[in-house]
Amino acid sequence: AKTAGRNTLRFFDPEMQANLATRANLEAALRASITGKKFVLHYQAQIDGQHGIIGAEALLRWRHPEGGMVPPGEFIPLAEDTGLIVPIGQWVLESACEQLADWARDPRKRHLLLAVNVSVRQFRQPDFVASVHQALTRAGAPATQLKLELTESLVLDDIDDSIDKMRTLKELGVGFSMDDFGTGYSSLSYLTRLPLDQLKIDQSFIRNLPDSASDAVVVQTIITLARSLGLSVIAEGVETEAQRSFLARYGCPTYQGYLFSKPIELAAFEALLPLD
Ligand code: C2E
Ligand code: CA
Ligand code: CA
Ligand code: CA
Repeated sequence: AKTAGRNTLRFFDPEMQANLATRANLEAALRASITGKKFVLHYQAQIDGQHGIIGAEALLRWRHPEGGMVPPGEFIPLAEDTGLIVPIGQWVLESACEQLADWARDPRKRHLLLAVNVSVRQFRQPDFVASVHQALTRAGAPATQLKLELTESLVLDDIDDSIDKMRTLKELGVGFSMDDFGTGYSSLSYLTRLPLDQLKIDQSFIRNLPDSASDAVVVQTIITLARSLGLSVIAEGVETEAQRSFLARYGCPTYQGYLFSKPIELAAFEALLPLD
């Protein structure tokens, strides 16, 4: 009875009511934005030491009705709670595939890979594989240029379903990168069961390079692990030349981070590409 009383009282807490109102407003605004073209993709270059820009990660931005670009950290958690991440994620996939189809028509751009983030709720949809396939086919995009970024927690939340879906998509030519690698689970035995292409070293391990001896060991271990599993490796959050050269020295040739470019609008990203 005491608990119920407390719960009832909490309902009248003005601060909480304000929170609820904000949440409801935010949810309504997000819902309306799906049909209202209020989302946009920004592109952050992925750089190879030898070949220059090899592709980009697509990062979602929300043009808030009251102005300003809202970064995903501020709306993706709510989108996940409410299930809105499923239609939003579908929009991201379709837009990314349209972009890939556009690049495929241009000899200067057809080599570009586009990495797309996938949320767990979206990935668990029974028709996820079909919706990726449909997005590729409808746009006329080459599956081999699409890379899906999955996290360890997403994959391990239902490993059999993950393996199943990854295998089918892999047969179509789609690639997979393990995002935020190193921040998740301690057991690595699952890695050999997954049809992965790439490990993406989390930016938290890059931040204090080269000074942090412990982060340096973790990074070297991930690079070695990737190599022995036959996977490529990319470091995210590379901000300084000292970080880049440390990574290069230890065998990581691919980078993403502010040192090269922030996530930027399509036209600005395309302007970074060489002219020949
Ligand atoms: P993430 O996938 O780990 O993306 C990397 C984040 O690090 C991005 O933040 C990017 O802007 C930021 N970043 C890149 N380079 C640097 C750097 O050199 N230094 C620092 N300090 N940060 C850097 P952003 O764009 O705010 O995205 C945050 C997260 O939101 C992403 O983390 C991803 O988990 C999620 N997200 C973004 N777009 C999508 C999407 O389309 N779908 C889903 N499901 N999640 C998305
Ligand atoms: Ca990512
Ligand atoms: Ca990441
Ligand atoms: Ca992250």
